[in-house]
Amino acid sequence: MDKIVFFLALQQFVYGIGWLVGIKLIPEIRSVGIWLSGFAFFSGLYFMASPLNAVGVGFSHIWIAQFLIVVVMIMVRRANEALFFEPYRWKEDAGLIIFFGIISVWTLSFSMRTSIIVMTVSFIVLWMGIRTVIISYRSIVKEFGLTITLLVNLPILFFLLVKGAQAFAIINHQTIIHDPDTGRLESTWYLALLLALTGLMHVNYVVMLLKRLIQNLNKMSKTDVLTNIMNRRAAEEVLCHEIREMVRDGIPFTVLMIDIDFFKSVNDRYGHAKGDEVLQSVCKCMRDTVRRNDYVARFGGEEFLLILPHTALKQAVELGERIRQKVADLRFDTEDIKITISIGVTQSNSDDSVMENILSRADKALYVSKERGRNQLNIEI
Ligand code: GH3
Ligand code: MG
Ligand code: MG
Repeated sequence: MDKIVFFLALQQFVYGIGWLVGIKLIPEIRSVGIWLSGFAFFSGLYFMASPLNAVGVGFSHIWIAQFLIVVVMIMVRRANEALFFEPYRWKEDAGLIIFFGIISVWTLSFSMRTSIIVMTVSFIVLWMGIRTVIISYRSIVKEFGLTITLLVNLPILFFLLVKGAQAFAIINHQTIIHDPDTGRLESTWYLALLLALTGLMHVNYVVMLLKRLIQNLNKMSKTDVLTNIMNRRAAEEVLCHEIREMVRDGIPFTVLMIDIDFFKSVNDRYGHAKGDEVLQSVCKCMRDTVRRNDYVARFGGEEFLLILPHTALKQAVELGERIRQKVADLRFDTEDIKITISIGVTQSNSDDSVMENILSRADKALYVSKERGRNQLNIEI
């Protein structure tokens, strides 16, 4: 075997091992990683088999190389599908392998057998490649952008081009020798370029998976599990951001601190599960009432924070009253549950350099609402 061929194959095996290690360390990437490791290992085998000298080479060698191409294409398409949680189209893959088998048997007595096999695989690659690119285009572009989609698909596009040219050459010259100088089935240049592009592809898959993992973690760290709205950490980030905005453009924002009245008794009388349901309903009611640019966060157990950017006190009070009324009108399956909320409202002012000032005023106003008998709204300037 050529040294160069051995190194090319070795590189692919290293990618395969890389993915296996990756899966072991990060089980979340398992579904994509397993297909990409398969892609790498089978690519390595293909690299080892493919550049055999075409002159005098046995049919079985060429057949194995062509079969490996089909397997490799299945693996890479499946990796793309797994990345977007699409179902495995095993029937399509089985169909292609059976088709390849039928052609292999059918051509047993043909003198042009090798050319026909190579041509068949060229068409399979064309079909699979186009399908892979379409899947990528639908999903990868949407989530990761055009550049990474192009980079991920470069080896496939390149392979499509080469296979197309090979099929064309076979039709015209009736030969499968790709590189006339060496008599090789594939040229070394082509293999080296394919290797470089697959390297790029693997790196980009890692980047995509990492990006998604980080995004998910980011989202989880800022979302409340029960109500699916912002949690306290996210609310504090928004407050800091709004304070910076206010300092810059001088337009104040308002904050509403909302607490459910006698919520403990809901839990005590109807159980914790019902309490959770009430929390979700109150939360939905608030989300349905605020404007698109407003923020609703779960600040504590049964305590919520509304941040209304670029909003005057008067409008905030109107919104708060609307929410208070809507919550009081909420009805639950268990008819006798009635929920009310107490609200404390405050507006940011030029002295508010830290969020604690604003929060403590909102808290004071809320305390007043509780003191004065609950189910009401009070303001602290
Ligand atoms: P107040 O009108 O003074 O606010 O009375 P309260 O009963 O609402 O206030 P308290 O702070 O004494 O009780 C809050 C209760 O909220 C206690 C806790 O069991 C309940 N709670 C906090 N988080 C959750 C949750 O995630 N699910 C449920 N079901 N209950 C929760
Ligand atoms: Mg309460
Ligand atoms: Mg409370």
